Amino acid sequence: MAAENRNAMTKMRQSDDNRWIPMTSVASKTGKEVAPDVFYYTNQIVNVIMIGQPGGGNWILIDTGMPQCAEEIMHVAEGRFGEGNAPTAIILTHGHFDHVGNVVHLSEAWDVPVFAHTLEYPYLTGEKGYPAPDTSVEGGLLAKLSALYPHEAIDISKRLLPLPDGGAVPFLDEWRWVHVPGHSPGQIALFRERDRLLLSADAFVTVRQDALYKVLVQKEEVHGPPRYLTTDWTQARESLRRLCDLMPATVIAGHGQYMEGEALQQGLDELLQNFDELAKPDHGRFVD
Ligand SMILES: [Zn+2]
Repeated sequence: MAAENRNAMTKMRQSDDNRWIPMTSVASKTGKEVAPDVFYYTNQIVNVIMIGQPGGGNWILIDTGMPQCAEEIMHVAEGRFGEGNAPTAIILTHGHFDHVGNVVHLSEAWDVPVFAHTLEYPYLTGEKGYPAPDTSVEGGLLAKLSALYPHEAIDISKRLLPLPDGGAVPFLDEWRWVHVPGHSPGQIALFRERDRLLLSADAFVTVRQDALYKVLVQKEEVHGPPRYLTTDWTQARESLRRLCDLMPATVIAGHGQYMEGEALQQGLDELLQNFDELAKPDHGRFVD
């Protein structure tokens, strides 16, 4: 069957194991405007990012949050962009459950396309799931809790479109996408040269995502990608270097509060120079 026909017939679906996760943080349900047209909202423990001037104009949603939170995210979007003002598109940084948790509901309700890197397609077209989280890595309770995390494939073929080659970002002229594999094969970051604003996805995060206490209080620190889900640590390091070379002035990561200036620079330098020691687990399925 031709791909178009199959896609047209395939029903959009979240993974069978898409379930509400009992996790939260002090930042949950709060938002912050980092630039006049860039706003992030913390949904439990993950950030969704809205790009566009507030009011009635065009805007783009980056990532879709934790499972079973679509209404909450739509409500926040309405508050910022006006009732009934759907985004022009959704862009996914990668396909992990906490970034695609509401992609089916939101893209259907808004009737919009979803863009992602083609290397992430297998996980977004029902072809395969990610490896189960490695619950043996250090990190105590949270790594154990990650056993609950959905990791099966979702299928959004009907609405999925590839990001253009070369780094252009659909509908966002000033932005470029940067391939940052390691945490997942087709993960992307987004960067805007004008104010050196970086959306790092989970290539690096600004909270220690595998320490329960730090997630709860959202203590800011530059940290490597969440350990229990990162499958290629050599690529993860290369991706971090790529982002450091951009010399970001401000970052909004997939997890944690935004960071800027000296604290960000220092944190990035330190993490890159001591990557094996600080980021990589000492043991675990994805390093041995
Ligand atoms: Zn992730």
